[in-house]
Amino acid sequence: MTADPRRRALASLDGLSVGDALGERFFGLRARERVARRELPPGPWRWTDDTAMACALLEVLVRFGEVHPDELARAFAIAYARDPDRGYGPGMRRLLPRLGSGGDWRASARALYRGEGSLGNGAAMRVGPLGAWFADDEERAAVEARRSAEVTHAHPEGIAGAVAVAAAAALAARTDRRGADLVAGVIEFVPEGAVREGLRRARDLGAVPPEEAARLLGSGALASAPDTVPFALWCASRSPDDYEAALWLTLGGLGDRDTTCAIVGGIVAARVGREGIPSSWLAAREPLPPLPT
Ligand SMILES: [Mg+2]
Repeated sequence: MTADPRRRALASLDGLSVGDALGERFFGLRARERVARRELPPGPWRWTDDTAMACALLEVLVRFGEVHPDELARAFAIAYARDPDRGYGPGMRRLLPRLGSGGDWRASARALYRGEGSLGNGAAMRVGPLGAWFADDEERAAVEARRSAEVTHAHPEGIAGAVAVAAAAALAARTDRRGADLVAGVIEFVPEGAVREGLRRARDLGAVPPEEAARLLGSGALASAPDTVPFALWCASRSPDDYEAALWLTLGGLGDRDTTCAIVGGIVAARVGREGIPSSWLAAREPLPPLPT
């Protein structure tokens, strides 16, 4: 593992964004057949909201060295206003304009979904690079992940999904854990609830075909954290040393495939680095917005 948090996070962001952009190209007809044939789509692969929000989060880490929630709310709002057509979900399409016009994130995020807050997978999809940044200390990664999630996702399950993905990226970067051992390590950081329950089932699933894992765990058809994160972590845990294989496995579960692939790509790249991502895949991905230096 490289000792430089920024380099680890940038590698994870590359993995996340390539996964996001590749997954997005696998919606539509013949998806299952195209996955079975490993038929890569022609470039450029356009990234979506997963990458836009991950870039905003990493920008705050680069500037402050930790999650600064007010600044993060501002960065999300700016990214949305600059480029709203990136496939944001209904909750974020309501919330981010409010944050952009000076609304407080605490009240606004809580007000979503009749006051329950969002339990969507949006806080989980963007957080892998944060886990890579804090990989020296999973406890800290979990705390910062929670703070990064709360800005948009007030529901405990939305937050738990982010904590799980950040812990997974940190463990992938710092240890050589894989399979049930990797998922078990993640569970220690996740509060009791539906995400944790799904992770227990993911831990015990073993080597089944991805269609089967998706059927048993859910692969994001509901776009909620409990319906997305356990499957994504199962995929990452099955193939944490092979980026390409991990992504094909994840695509095999269909579902919310830009997001499951973004999560898996961010976790696996935290371990294998930028060198582990096929260079032709990096070249096909639309360039990322510039980060502060
Ligand atoms: Mg997306």
